[in-house]
Amino acid sequence: MSMNTQGRPTSAGDAGTAFQPKTFTGNRALDMEEPLIFEVGHLDVTGVDLDEPEGFEPQLGTHARADELDLPGLAEPEAMRHYVRLSRNNYAIDAGLYPLGSCTMKHNPRLNEKMARLPGFSDIHPLQPLSTVKGGVELIDELAHWLMVMTGTSAVAMSPKAGAHGELCGMMAIKAAHTAAGRDPKIVLVPESAHGTNPATAALLGYKVVSIDAKDDGTVDFDGLKATIAEHEGNIAGIMLTNPNTCGLFERDIIEIAEAIHAADAYFYCDGANFNAIVGKARPGDLGVDAMHINLHKTFSTPHGGGGPGSGPVVLSDRLAPFAPLPFLRKGENGPELVETTAEVEDGEKPFGRMTAFHGQMGMYVRALSYMLSHGSDGMRQASEDAVLNANYVRVGLQDLMTLPFGERPCMHEVLFDDSFLKDTGVTTLDFAKAMIDEGYHPMTMYFPLVVHGAMLIEPTESESRASLDLFVATMRDLVMSAKRGETERFSGAPYLSPRRRLDETLAARKPVLKWTAPEPADVTPVAAE
Ligand SMILES: *Cc1c(COP(=O)(O)O)cnc(C)c1O
Repeated sequence: MSMNTQGRPTSAGDAGTAFQPKTFTGNRALDMEEPLIFEVGHLDVTGVDLDEPEGFEPQLGTHARADELDLPGLAEPEAMRHYVRLSRNNYAIDAGLYPLGSCTMKHNPRLNEKMARLPGFSDIHPLQPLSTVKGGVELIDELAHWLMVMTGTSAVAMSPKAGAHGELCGMMAIKAAHTAAGRDPKIVLVPESAHGTNPATAALLGYKVVSIDAKDDGTVDFDGLKATIAEHEGNIAGIMLTNPNTCGLFERDIIEIAEAIHAADAYFYCDGANFNAIVGKARPGDLGVDAMHINLHKTFSTPHGGGGPGSGPVVLSDRLAPFAPLPFLRKGENGPELVETTAEVEDGEKPFGRMTAFHGQMGMYVRALSYMLSHGSDGMRQASEDAVLNANYVRVGLQDLMTLPFGERPCMHEVLFDDSFLKDTGVTTLDFAKAMIDEGYHPMTMYFPLVVHGAMLIEPTESESRASLDLFVATMRDLVMSAKRGETERFSGAPYLSPRRRLDETLAARKPVLKWTAPEPADVTPVAAE
């Protein structure tokens, strides 16, 4: 009988026979098939126990709906089961280690959730009179204060709703500053290893993106940067640089880079998505950064992925502070005041416009402040240190078998491998990632950053225990050795054990099925007695 890594016997199949029952329902124990909600629900069923109102007269005139709306109706237990079953097919940070580099999938303390659900925060409506939400405004002000303290900056735009939205906000502030100074530079410099959102942001604002090469050690080529600045003198709006960069390395020339950019009358935008590696250790403002977004959902732990929620406040240097968008907070005699319109703007305040209809993501502000206050400055510094320690623990555990493109130097919060260790094994990079799914892991970030061939970017985060990291390292070593032994079958058809296997992504992209048609109802006729 074989044992699993917890020292317990593995499946009954292993213990005795390889028999696999063919089930009547098609389910495999906890692995249950779930139809679409449209296939479960019926219009005549509802989860609400209210009678149809009598004599109801819609006031929509000719716009009133004439036909039944074809939406599914479900009783409460049916609705619960539908979503619970679907959720069991999801991988989540609450289910296991989630090594997706650059995304910072770390534990979200439940205390934050508890605070965000306090009715005084969760029931606020954005159109409520200000006098009734003073506590909420004060919370935003306090969070803004700590963001400025941690980054060594003097202003922060709170409203952007994601990292990419924050990039747009910061770059719009930079554009407004150039315009105010009577300049109209056309170029934004972006290093090769940048996150795709950086060049996309610059392009969206009409800038031409000029790429900066990386050196062999994975950091920005400072001499190349200086040459590019000289070549485009007077026409550079700014640089968008990530630090620690997307290879998981600290840009050691960052202060010289900032000075060179400032000397060219340009601004330094820092992509702060990796701030979780340096909180409490370095302040971006001290490094010469003019604008940086902070992904509250990454660094300050809000559950994220699947498109939301996100929150990307942007801290701004003195030079950019006047251009911060509406709405913003101003110190008033009786605490913070919310400035919402250009009519309320005072001398020296030149907001470039506004990014969102209201004030941002209240629930995430509460979670972020709760995270900060419960950790304290020492706790946050330790979280950064542990994130870096854990990434290096994984690096050292794997560097003799997997390949490090930039040599065996310490990394920051994530470790970047390339796929040269798979050369001549017959196992592709994608196969390798899919085999991790059978082992119960979400794959690491694949094929990003683009600067190395077949990138595999692993970010374990500080929330993993040593035991969890040991199991992950041992699993990865087992997979690598298996690939090197030529056991290609384990990889080529993987995942074998997930509810869905390899989907035909090309077919899905070329011939998407965009219209749902009701399937034949399932045959649930009881088998007859024989
Ligand atoms: C996540 C990330 C972004 C974008 O943040 P979103 O909140 O997803 O818009 C930008 N840059 C880097 C380096 C990131 O990791």
